[in-house]
Amino acid sequence: MKKILTAVVGMTFLLCYLGWENSGHTFDTKPSSIVNKISRDEKRVKESISDAAMEANGKASDDEKMISADTNGAEGVAAFTDPSSLLVLVNKQYGLPEEYRPRDLVYPDVPFLFSDKIDKRKMREEAAKALEQLFSGAKEDGISLMGVSAYRSYKTQTDLFDYYVHREGEKAAETFSAFPGHSEHETGLAIDVTGGDGRCAAEDCFADTEAAKWLAEHAHEYGFIIRYPEGKEQITGYKYEPWHIRYVGKKSAKEMAERGITLEEFLTPEQTGAK
Ligand SMILES: [Zn+2]
Repeated sequence: MKKILTAVVGMTFLLCYLGWENSGHTFDTKPSSIVNKISRDEKRVKESISDAAMEANGKASDDEKMISADTNGAEGVAAFTDPSSLLVLVNKQYGLPEEYRPRDLVYPDVPFLFSDKIDKRKMREEAAKALEQLFSGAKEDGISLMGVSAYRSYKTQTDLFDYYVHREGEKAAETFSAFPGHSEHETGLAIDVTGGDGRCAAEDCFADTEAAKWLAEHAHEYGFIIRYPEGKEQITGYKYEPWHIRYVGKKSAKEMAERGITLEEFLTPEQTGAK
């Protein structure tokens, strides 16, 4: 029975993730009670974060928000709790509201492992442009790159997390998959990339490739950071992921690269003990 359930959930997830959710098909996913409970708990956390963000931003216009994010720098709460900020912090502690959907998602003009024009190919406009520049910069250095997975909606993340919980249990799923609202892919600012041969896509062996070395050295020049660096697992909450890059803008990326710090240390130095 459990096997059948796992298979059904697996199929549902795969179909959703392949983009059917965008073509008008609907799926009746039946999350387990565990997941429902997690979702409820997680929603409470999210609501309080979202309230804090609204409070921090008040009735500020988009321009004012940009200014406050800039002038407050690392200390500014608005800079990382505003879902639309380029510095939004999304991790196990901070999440995005369920209704948040980036308004400026576009298709970056770079090759992906797949050819379908689906959500997971999209990024926010500024990040997409920067990604195009990063890919051509890599090419000039003789490194070819491919996109693996970029934007993911709250619903897709829910299906993904449910699928892992059914497959491996809640405890295991938590170690490698994010709760809905807590995946950086939901910001439209993050993308998993791999080398042009497509091998080791989102796998540990990617770390030893030329593409990974190039990214570690040059991503910040284009405004991206290696979001989950080696040796920072305790701070980011994630194991080393050399393939997951996150757009934060050139100025911030350069500073983080030079200081060798993570986004958590950059934005919440008081919580992470960063100097
Ligand atoms: Zn990723």
